[in-house]
Amino acid sequence: MTVAVVGAGLAGLSAAWALEGAGAGAAADVVVLDAGRRPGGMIVTERRDGFVVEGGPDGFLAAEPDIQELAREVGIEERLVDQVARGAALWTGRRLEPLAEGKAAELLGIQVNANAGTQFRTFTTGMADVVEALVACLVPRLRTTQGVTAIAPAARGWRLSFTGASSLDAEAVILAVPAWVAARLLAGVGVSAARELDTVLYAPSITVSLAYRADQVPGTLEGTGFVAAPDAGGAVRACTYTWRKYPNRAPDGFALLRAFVGPVDGDPASIAHAELATILRIEGDPLWTRVFHWPRGLPRYPRGHAERVAAVRERLARLAPLAIAGAGFDGAGVSACVKSGREAAREILGRLGSHVRG
Ligand SMILES: Cc1cc2nc3c(=O)[nH]c(=O)nc-3n(C[C@H](O)[C@H](O)[C@H](O)COP(=O)(O)OP(=O)(O)OC[C@H]3O[C@@H](n4cnc5c(N)ncnc54)[C@H](O)[C@@H]3O)c2cc1C
Repeated sequence: MTVAVVGAGLAGLSAAWALEGAGAGAAADVVVLDAGRRPGGMIVTERRDGFVVEGGPDGFLAAEPDIQELAREVGIEERLVDQVARGAALWTGRRLEPLAEGKAAELLGIQVNANAGTQFRTFTTGMADVVEALVACLVPRLRTTQGVTAIAPAARGWRLSFTGASSLDAEAVILAVPAWVAARLLAGVGVSAARELDTVLYAPSITVSLAYRADQVPGTLEGTGFVAAPDAGGAVRACTYTWRKYPNRAPDGFALLRAFVGPVDGDPASIAHAELATILRIEGDPLWTRVFHWPRGLPRYPRGHAERVAAVRERLARLAPLAIAGAGFDGAGVSACVKSGREAAREILGRLGSHVRG
C-alpha cells in the first residue's frame, strides 16, 4: 500500500512524518513528491561565512505549539532559540518612531492570531534546521523534481501523473501544495468546489538580505526592525535587524539586515541599500547582498475562505482517501502548516484504519 504526499514544504513533510510516526510506514510506503529540486518549499536558509540568511520565514510565535512539538519529535528541541531584541519602529518617511507591540504585523497585512503574543522563536542555524531534521528521517521516501500534473481515480485509490508521462498508484493522497495547485488537481477529479480555492491571493514579495561591517551601521539602532508607514514612500516596506533580533545570525563584528521590498523597477538590492542607508544612516556599501523573489509569497484568504475549505473537505470525505494541507487552507504561519499537515495525516490514517491495522 502506498500513501503519497504531494508537496515537500513544511506541511507535506510534517504530514509524512506523522504518517511514519503513527506506524503507517510499516504498513504502507509513504512517498513524498515535490516538483522542486529541494524540499522545504518556502523555507529557504542559506549559511555563508558565519551568516544565517533566510529567504522565506525567519521564525514563529513562541506561543504556537505545533512546530515546537515537531522539533521535539525529530530531536532538535535544543536548537529552538528565542528572539533577543524586542520592539519595532515605524518609518514615517521622515523619522523612526516607536511602534506599539503587535502593530507591525497589522501594518504589513499579515493575518495573525491576536492571542498568540509577540515573542518569536527560531532555530539555531535557521528555519531549515527543522526541514533538514525531517528530511533526514524521511530521506528514502522523498522524491524531488516530481511535479504532479494530474490525479485520477484508480482501481484502489488514486493514480498520480507526473511531468514526463510517468505515474504512481497510491491508496491515499495528501495534497500539501499551494491552493491554486490543489484547485487545479481537485477540479480534475470532479471536486468543482475546489475551483474556488483559486481565490486565495498569494501576495508577491521580495526579500533582500544585506551584510555590513558592524561599524557601518549606527550602534544606536534599537529593537527588531521597522515597518514603513503606508504613506512613507519608497520601496522598502519593512526591515528586520536580523543580527539583533536572533542570536548568531552574523559573525562578531558584522551586521545583517533583511528588507521586504515591494515590486520595483531595477535591482532590488541596490534600491534596498540606498533606502536603508538613508533611513538607518548606514555608511558605505554592503559587503554582499542576497535577493529572494517570491512571485507568490504569503497567502491571504478572502472572506468565506474557511467555509470554502470546509465544503471541499466534505466532498473529499466521500471519495477514496484524499486530503489537503498547508498554508493555502489552514493558516499561513509555519506552525499552522505543521498542524495542518499532521491533521491531514491523522485523517488519512483514520480512513485507512482497517487496512493499516489489518
Ligand atoms: C518571504 C516570506 C516570509 C515568511 N515569513 C514567515 C514567518 O516569519 N513566519 C511564519 O510562520 N511564516 C512565514 N511565511 C509563511 C510560511 O513560510 C509559509 O506559509 C509556509 O512555509 C508554507 O508551507 P507549505 O508546506 O504549506 O507550502 P510550501 O512551502 O509552498 O510548499 C509547497 C510545496 O509544494 C510543491 N509543489 C507545488 N506544486 C506541486 C506539484 N504540482 N507537484 C508536486 N509538488 C508541488 C512546491 O514545490 C513546494 O515545495 C513567510 C513566507 C514568505 C514567502
